Amino acid sequence: MGHFRPDPPLTPTAPPSPRMASTVAKTLSSEVSLLLADVMAFRTGLIYDEQMMNYNLLWDYPVCSIEKPERLSTSYEKLKYYGLVERCIPLPYREAIEEEIALVHSLDYIEAVKSTASMNVDELKTFSHKYDAVYFHPNSYHCAKVALGASLQLVDAVMLGEVQNGMALVRPPGHHSQKSEACGFCIFNNVAIAAKYAEKTYRTKRILIVDWDVHHGQGIQYIFEEDPSVLYFSWHRYEEQQFWPHLKDSDYSAVGKGKGVGFNINIPWNKIGMENADYLAAFFYILLPMAYEFNPELVLVSAGFDAVIGDPEGEMRATPECFAHLTHLLMPLAKGKLCVVLEGGYNLRSLSESVCMTARVLLGDPVPPLVGEMVPCTSAIESIQNARAVHQPYWNVLKNQDCAFIKDPSTIGIEEDGSQSSTATTAEEKEVTTVFTVSQGFDEFMDSHMKKVLVLTPRVRTAVSGCGEKLTILDQCLQVEKKKITMEEVGILISGGDCAELKDEYLLLSLGKIFPLIDKIMKREVRNGIAVSSTLSSGAFAARYSTTVRASRVLLLLLGETDIPTDVKEDEKILVVQVYGNQVEKKQSKYYIPISWKKDNEWDGDLLSSLFEIILPLAYGFKPELVILAVGSNIRIQEVTLAHLTHFLQVLAEGRILVISQASDLVETLVSSLLGNPLAAMSSFVLQQENALVLVKLRRELKQHWKLL
Ligand SMILES: [Zn+2]
Repeated sequence: MGHFRPDPPLTPTAPPSPRMASTVAKTLSSEVSLLLADVMAFRTGLIYDEQMMNYNLLWDYPVCSIEKPERLSTSYEKLKYYGLVERCIPLPYREAIEEEIALVHSLDYIEAVKSTASMNVDELKTFSHKYDAVYFHPNSYHCAKVALGASLQLVDAVMLGEVQNGMALVRPPGHHSQKSEACGFCIFNNVAIAAKYAEKTYRTKRILIVDWDVHHGQGIQYIFEEDPSVLYFSWHRYEEQQFWPHLKDSDYSAVGKGKGVGFNINIPWNKIGMENADYLAAFFYILLPMAYEFNPELVLVSAGFDAVIGDPEGEMRATPECFAHLTHLLMPLAKGKLCVVLEGGYNLRSLSESVCMTARVLLGDPVPPLVGEMVPCTSAIESIQNARAVHQPYWNVLKNQDCAFIKDPSTIGIEEDGSQSSTATTAEEKEVTTVFTVSQGFDEFMDSHMKKVLVLTPRVRTAVSGCGEKLTILDQCLQVEKKKITMEEVGILISGGDCAELKDEYLLLSLGKIFPLIDKIMKREVRNGIAVSSTLSSGAFAARYSTTVRASRVLLLLLGETDIPTDVKEDEKILVVQVYGNQVEKKQSKYYIPISWKKDNEWDGDLLSSLFEIILPLAYGFKPELVILAVGSNIRIQEVTLAHLTHFLQVLAEGRILVISQASDLVETLVSSLLGNPLAAMSSFVLQQENALVLVKLRRELKQHWKLL
């Protein structure tokens, strides 16, 4: 078929031990084998040890009272409660050795921390107060070595392929600590040392650190600000420098230094009360495009959960399932090598629910729906836009985009008379946001909220119909019988039955494969499905059929050229996005969005850019109950790009997606992505100038109809 293949040929990373999976599977009943396939595909490591609870605050020091041992035990108990611990592979902890600590910290500092093990309370107090917002206990040194050792064990397990991804539940946290300084509850910088360790041990050349804790990990920034091998991304409560740690270095203008310029991304939140839409917008407009261009070999998450609703430090309003979405969005990077290391999080309920949401998605569970209106606030847009503007000179993907500063960076925070501007949150706004942090009703709120977002996982992940039976990977899928569809049955779906295409018997054969898959997906019997169809026009019929059975809103993403019936384009239940490369102008309407590339070859990077900047933001607002991806046979993109696209679309609609492929030789790649297998890296990620302009124009037009993320 006509799609392009990368050179040298790339195949998606195989699931762990595929031969073993298929051999064992054939000896078992089909249902057991499908469940086994699920277990084989997701190997998530978990490190936790009670030893890290063996230190606490020994004197009255209100600033530090929230960092307590229960943060860890509550998170672990919640993982057990949801049955997630037994699904993870337990990884052994170890103590880090001095040589490892010294990858980041000075020997003098290590000696000083070591000496705290024999101090009495008065000495500990004096020692602690030399630093900013940190306390020491005689066990602190030991626990800090265990927390770091656990982080390094996780890196080892992921880099050696013993697990695909994993989580280290550790304390003390690390991201504030610096070369010779403890800070903000942090003693050794677990994630920064983990990055240095991966570089040293595995020769990892590019590492992405995503710091979604609500505080700025200034320690990580300082350690890597001149280092282009580590891309550091942090969002944080800032309030124009009025929030701790009150550093100008936390603003978006800190982009790195020397060789590291462009590799430090700060998104300063200048208001409290940031919500799910604000966090997603930061991922779509900044982090994901830059991360794809950076192409990391390992992703480390400084996973603080103090940016969640109810946290007394963050005072933000994102809900726990937002972290399921963020985790899913990071999984395509670095061939799925993802290490999540706990940092902050001080509301025990928010913390533990968010830890579980993250773990679920690492394990491959469906991503729950996000509630609420998906529109970022003005202040968040300003921070994101300024970060894009300041990074535009360093990143090709931003080069031809709309990236003007919203405020002049040289005057930000300073009024004309030289006084500090007061964009910090007012007392009134704070009251609204903190209502849950002080009220007795928080647990009730959380109980009812979690009931809304905890979704059932269909027993079978992927169903196939009419894809042939030769591919080994299909052993992991449920084969669905096709049924006979008549012209009359289809005719009533579109244009009152007078659609010329109904005379095409190949279309009827395709729909006979597609409709039973839609039935199974919408009945939650399977999570997703795939069928081969000789004609791309089956996509529109599939979408219309879905709305007549159970789906009240369907996102139809078509890759390639085909005519779409007018009544489908105008149907407010079906959002149609058609991406194609033949430059034919098509008339756009609210529910029909054509993206026609000016440059009609190698639009892999362009397609993913349009996904981040247009398709996903639109889809989050539209909230589809089913996603249909129809892939034409003559589109000029690589298979690996389709695999990434298929992964991202599973963040919507609780993972309910039907893929229709016109080319049968794409089936293996698409099924692998539907099964949740790790993805190969894309060979390059370029947004071509001509096509960037298409996206800029389209975004402006869409704002008439849609409140974009
Ligand atoms: Zn924090």
